[in-house]
Amino acid sequence: MLLSLIIPCFNEEDVLKLFMERTSAVVKTIREKFGAETEYIFVDDGSSDTTLRILRDFHAENEAVHYISFSRNFGKEAAMYAGLKASAGDYTAIMDADLQDPPELLIQMMEILSENRADCAAARRMDRKGEPVIRSWFARRFYSIVNRSKDPDLVEGVRDYRMMNRQMVNAVLSISEYNRFSKGIFAWVGFRTEWIPYEHADRAAGKTKWSFRSLLHYGIDGLIGYTVKPLEIAAWLGLIFFGLSMIGILFIIVRKLAFGDPVAGWPSLVCIILFCSGIQLFCTGIIGEYLAKVYLEVKNRPVYIVQETDQMLQKL
Ligand code: UDP
Ligand code: MG
Repeated sequence: MLLSLIIPCFNEEDVLKLFMERTSAVVKTIREKFGAETEYIFVDDGSSDTTLRILRDFHAENEAVHYISFSRNFGKEAAMYAGLKASAGDYTAIMDADLQDPPELLIQMMEILSENRADCAAARRMDRKGEPVIRSWFARRFYSIVNRSKDPDLVEGVRDYRMMNRQMVNAVLSISEYNRFSKGIFAWVGFRTEWIPYEHADRAAGKTKWSFRSLLHYGIDGLIGYTVKPLEIAAWLGLIFFGLSMIGILFIIVRKLAFGDPVAGWPSLVCIILFCSGIQLFCTGIIGEYLAKVYLEVKNRPVYIVQETDQMLQKL
């Protein structure tokens, strides 16, 4: 039995040694308890620090360690995809390098999968403690909009930290789209998922790659990538305004017939024009977002470009 661990790394030189120490203890337990070997697949997502050098050293010391290095930063989604493609394990887990995903949970995940209680065991954050209020607010809005669609619901607080069996990994890999939103893909492919609630740990070292702005972008991309609900909202807005304008037209005709044509109402006219053109621009913007996604998708560019890997993975 083989467990593949996929670890996306972007400028993680401060934390990698620590990560290896804590994880190898867990790997040992997994070997004793389940008789499973573990392979590490580090994906260096175009780091500009010494991450790649550290990974080469890891590989030289331990043949269970593999690495893939991208030609530039392609983002965590691309890194996870590359890792999944390279993984050969019966079970595959994705975890962050910064130890915010406690490696000890792997044992629990392994239990769930090996007893076949589920096809996927995923960590779920139970609180948003220590997070700026406004960020939590946006996160909740995100889930409430996404989950109003017909697509499978996204569970709030899910992380990318999860272990899947081969069947589910293959299903995820069969989705080769360019605009990847893994949380959505994991939900979309289905299968039985068991949630493991856990307390979010602080980053062991180094700093987060996410600013508020990049998170907002991630949210919007996720929304657009996962559901077409915003297009529906735009269409409904159009319908509602069509209805309102009908009432307005009737009102004006009746007033004209009853009271003649006093030239008044310039301010209200300006308000209506400004308001309606605002809504129009907003809806055009939504359509534009989808068009942009379609454009990127039809260009059919690769999700990532590999610059260097170790011997074992070179056949990829
Ligand atoms: N990461 C990556 N590419 C990126 C950004 C992040 O591979 O462009 C990796 C990063 O090295 C880490 C994981 O994704 O292992 C999560 O990143 P981070 O800790 O910055 O995010 P947070 O935990 O704050 O959500
Ligand atoms: Mg983190």
